[in-house]
Amino acid sequence: MGWKNCPNCGKEYWIHEMRFPFTDSGGSLSCTNCGTKLHSWNKGTYDYMLVEAEEKRKQLKRQEWEATNYPKCYCGNTMVKRKGGYGEFFGCANYPNGCTKTVNVNEVEDEEFY
Ligand SMILES: [Zn+2]
Ligand SMILES: [Zn+2]
Repeated sequence: MGWKNCPNCGKEYWIHEMRFPFTDSGGSLSCTNCGTKLHSWNKGTYDYMLVEAEEKRKQLKRQEWEATNYPKCYCGNTMVKRKGGYGEFFGCANYPNGCTKTVNVNEVEDEEFY
């Protein structure tokens, strides 16, 4: 999905698509400001969640920051911060699909990874 303006009051939202819904019952989203229905969906499709525009912008900024400051794995994916038994480390975002490359957080701060 994406950005959506309430047709009634103009309030801006991000409609977030959840590809692995917890429930599968269909539903609808309404403007928290004026109650106008913004989006609805049926049983058997993805679920959706309403995110305040300000909140979404913060998330995007954070992701941008991470994309430039976090290391890149040789497989092309970005790495994400994880916590393990020995403290924090960076692991490949593709880890669930078999990439097990990890980087020490301290190495990243020294930029020795590059
Ligand atoms: Zn509204
Ligand atoms: Zn990788």
